[in-house]
Amino acid sequence: MQSTRTKVIFFDMDGTLFDIDHSLRQALSAIRDTYNALAEKTVEELIEKYSAALQQSRDAYLDKVITYEAADTQKVHLFFASLGLPEPSLEQVWQFHNTYKPVYSANRRPTAGSVEALVRLRENGYRIGIVTDGQLQDQREKAEAIGVLHLVDLIITSDEIGFRKPDHRIFEYAIARLGMNSFENTYMIGDSVDADIKGALDVRLTGILYSPTALDSQRLLFGHTIIVIKHMAQLLGYLNIVSLQFIPRFVPAPGRLAVLGIGVDMVTEQRRCLHITKGVSELLAKRMGAVLDCLAQRHRLQAVYHIERMIRAITHAAGPYAETTTQFSSGRGLSVLSTATYRCHIFERDHSTRVEYTQFNVHVHSPTGDGIALRRIVTLLQGHYNDLMRDDPEAAIGQLRSVIQILLEQEGPRSESLRESSPMPESGPMPESGDGSRLIDT
Ligand SMILES: [Mg+2]
Repeated sequence: MQSTRTKVIFFDMDGTLFDIDHSLRQALSAIRDTYNALAEKTVEELIEKYSAALQQSRDAYLDKVITYEAADTQKVHLFFASLGLPEPSLEQVWQFHNTYKPVYSANRRPTAGSVEALVRLRENGYRIGIVTDGQLQDQREKAEAIGVLHLVDLIITSDEIGFRKPDHRIFEYAIARLGMNSFENTYMIGDSVDADIKGALDVRLTGILYSPTALDSQRLLFGHTIIVIKHMAQLLGYLNIVSLQFIPRFVPAPGRLAVLGIGVDMVTEQRRCLHITKGVSELLAKRMGAVLDCLAQRHRLQAVYHIERMIRAITHAAGPYAETTTQFSSGRGLSVLSTATYRCHIFERDHSTRVEYTQFNVHVHSPTGDGIALRRIVTLLQGHYNDLMRDDPEAAIGQLRSVIQILLEQEGPRSESLRESSPMPESGPMPESGDGSRLIDT
């Protein structure tokens, strides 16, 4: 895999891969709650003042005017001064850091879609570097905390080589470290016009501006038309990396409906909202297969049982930044009368897993009656997979709950009378097939 990746892409860290705004907001909210003098201030005002203080002290450190430790103290002094507060004592600086830093660190997360982008870039032949100002140890820790350290090939910091962006030498050094001798087809993605875009253009890299709040899709900067992206998924589109789309298809036949085209291609990494491991993706694939099998056999209550376990697995896979709530429908506790026999193929890569379900047939009484309901259910089930691919657990769970509602309505009063508490026995290990995929037969 390593040797086949011949293209190069660089990312900035702060504000590009790392969602610095979120950490700042949480940490400054904690500061406001701690200091009575700040109780009347809005978090927005604190962010504005602190960002200015941070920038000023950081510039002094990066320009080697003061040490890293002195900059850490200076930013608190500048922040207090900008708010009209008395000069802080050493103890107050220490207290500030003790409140601010743990909250800031605990809330580190990647920007939306950046983990998916790094995975897909690797899978499509890109070598990836982070080019950032700051200290190497800080930036490595940060990269690890947001789940991208193992997805990149190197991290280059200004502290390490003695030049800060936009100095051309930091980019030249990064290119050389990746063993490349050309800037052709090499990209630099960053949120700073002056550091990232100017630096990229100066060494003839293709600069792409990342700006989540941008209203434009391109901008004239330094005499060049620069692509502007609001979300990392747009970067993949710009580089012609097309994500696999699954769209269910329905083929009517007398008395039945054939369903095909269901599947998912999911990143199995710690993303911003979801961490679906390979184990969880396998579990979901198995449960989904069981649901499809139950639909084929018209075992609606058993389908509800499996869907509820899917909801539970997704809820557990959702990280601290996902806004999911654990809420189970009235079908919980139903016993399952038979095991599913539905089959799917699983294709595993280093950082993602693709699942494809084979065609299945469902007997329908009427193409305009239960046939329409079945299409609706299958579309919702595929929709939940699409939401998982987009790192949106709340939407995925919403789609599954809609399926449960339809199934329980179809089942009517029987769904109440059949509630039992005996759990479904879990299936054993899944067999391997010899063609690079694994065939699941639960
Ligand atoms: Mg930045």
